[in-house]
Amino acid sequence: MRERKIQGQAPPASQPSASSPLIAPAADETVNDSLRPTRLMDMIGQRAVADRLRVALEACRIRGEPLPHILFDGPPGLGKTTFATVLHHELGVELAMTSGPALDKKGDVMPFLTNAIEGSILFIDEIHRLPKSVEEFIYPVMEDFRVDVVLGEGISARTLNLPLKKFTIIGATTRSGMLSSPLRDRFHMHEHLEFYDIADLARIVTINAAKLKTTITQEAALELAHRSRGTPRLANARLRWVRDFATARYDGVVTVEIAREALEMQEIDREALDKQDRRYLEGLIQVFHGGPAGVEALAATLAISVDTLADEVEPFLLRSQFIIRTPRGRCATPKAYEHLGIRLPKKRPASDGQDNLFGHF
Ligand code: ADP
Repeated sequence: MRERKIQGQAPPASQPSASSPLIAPAADETVNDSLRPTRLMDMIGQRAVADRLRVALEACRIRGEPLPHILFDGPPGLGKTTFATVLHHELGVELAMTSGPALDKKGDVMPFLTNAIEGSILFIDEIHRLPKSVEEFIYPVMEDFRVDVVLGEGISARTLNLPLKKFTIIGATTRSGMLSSPLRDRFHMHEHLEFYDIADLARIVTINAAKLKTTITQEAALELAHRSRGTPRLANARLRWVRDFATARYDGVVTVEIAREALEMQEIDREALDKQDRRYLEGLIQVFHGGPAGVEALAATLAISVDTLADEVEPFLLRSQFIIRTPRGRCATPKAYEHLGIRLPKKRPASDGQDNLFGHF
């Protein structure tokens, strides 16, 4: 079983050439992530997704066939890559990893297709950023495990129909809405990952503290879970920080008081919002009078990319009801005003002459 996660190093001859952009999503973390579970039974939460994957694994083991193509979607850090690596471990098959933006042209994807062995997995992160030409190129791959290669140019050009080994494509996206329907429909399983609840995050923190040989109280694990925005990747990052803080300033044991002190130093508040989230809410309330405001206008005002706002900031603010999304744009909720200690206006000015959504306050 091999896992091809190559970045900045020449792959062996049988693998894609050094010039092909073979990269690992979140490469540093993917390669060295000692906290990443390797078996399905070690995955915490996402029970419905794990159950369906268990069925797919069992069926493909019984039939001796590759896994169906699977699409994972959901905000960053919820386990899309982890599920792909878990499936590769469960089946004991080879895993190659790349990402949509790295596959700039057909030639970039070709080595992955021709090197894929029977039953192996090709993981494509950020698949919504695959260029249209590459996307269309892989349609016959996903359907019939063949690829059409054009040889020569002009009138002497001819198309070679190259058969491929049967393998699995696992796609991951933070923006399933940006995926074209022909591509989406070629995935046999669509799995949406939800934010994690506090109990599951606290379990992840406790298990990972043990892996990091750190003593943490149950109360401190719950505190970290509360401040991790429903996201395991953030829970792990908070845990590592709190552990460093406890080691540098105290005796290394993480108590709830130490956890709070460490997180306050990172400016992560009791609602799990960080500086960027608060800037977003302040901008929406103070510059746009609480909204409605379009994401482009907000991004320009805050000097943050639209992608960062849409992928990393807004999903949690929406889920925790600090903002709502309307056809006319984003609006801050009374909870956002209260959290920032800003007084609710009696009647907010409606820039477009219509009553705004919170006109009653
Ligand atoms: P994504 O690909 O969705 O951005 P990852 O799969 O890289 O997210 O997950 C980030 C980290 O969170 C992983 O390295 C892993 O340690 C942890 N993690 C994710 N999902 C789970 C889970 N269900 N149980 C335990 N840890 C998880």
